[in-house]
Amino acid sequence: MSRTLEIPGLDGRLALVTGGSRGIGRAAAVLLASAGARVGIAYRCAADEAEETLAQMRQAAAYSSHDPRRGPWAQAADLATESGVVALFARLDAEFGGRLDVFVGNAGIWNVLPRPLEQLDLDRWRQMIEANLTSVYLTTRAAASRMGESGRIVLVSSTAAQRGEAGHSHYAASKGAIQSFVKSLAVELGPRGITVNAVAPGWVDTDMTSDILSGEGREAIEREIPLGRVAIPRDIGGPVVFLASELAAHVTGEILNVNGGSVLCG
Ligand code: NAD
Repeated sequence: MSRTLEIPGLDGRLALVTGGSRGIGRAAAVLLASAGARVGIAYRCAADEAEETLAQMRQAAAYSSHDPRRGPWAQAADLATESGVVALFARLDAEFGGRLDVFVGNAGIWNVLPRPLEQLDLDRWRQMIEANLTSVYLTTRAAASRMGESGRIVLVSSTAAQRGEAGHSHYAASKGAIQSFVKSLAVELGPRGITVNAVAPGWVDTDMTSDILSGEGREAIEREIPLGRVAIPRDIGGPVVFLASELAAHVTGEILNVNGGSVLCG
């Protein structure tokens, strides 16, 4: 395998990206592979999207076609369930020999339709918390147990954690909790040499947001972003990879805002 991107401390590392089949997770996975990491991705469904990420990783990293055991891999699993997480880590152990260096906890959901509190029933609340928070707890716990010194954990939060998001309080609460989780684990895992950080994206052009960003609302959203545009997935993938690299060796417990300056205008 050869690398096409020079970032210290990623060549030969073993990385797992959840939600790696598309969007932000795909961008992070491809960048990690470009920097020489061997990457596994997890996704909920849509195997064709996962195949596309694998193809992009193979192209970016020129993985050896002679030794498929050293190539990237993809596992379908519902990470909101304990059985899904067990299945994912069984695959990871088979592929990586029970080791993990970099964990990117990115999988998550958002509801396009606003749900003001009076319409936010317990089932919707639970679905969001299980998909966005319980999944992060289960996967981070499994990931950390396989990490040695210089392990890197990077979770994906959101601007909604700082600003709140009217009509999406369950989403905002799930992403706010990720920030508290990060700060707690940074202290717990620091003595083992493991760093724990998060990125907090603002609006990003992905399948998750396409209903909103392809409509009339886009212009108003972009007016509120000092840099004048919505992010593309690579805008978030780059900071994820920075936090996963040797360049961020002494950064832990941080929330890196990646939003074009939009929280400054909130
Ligand atoms: P996306 O919908 O394009 O991709 C989501 C990924 O997560 C997919 O691979 C999907 O399979 C996976 N996933 C979702 N639920 C899962 C589950 N239960 N089990 C396993 N996999 C699951 O979304 P995206 O825009 O790339 O978002 C990625 C992350 O970034 C999410 O956590 C999201 O909340 C966060 N985020 C996105 C934006 C944005 O504007 N797009 C802004 C802030 C934060």
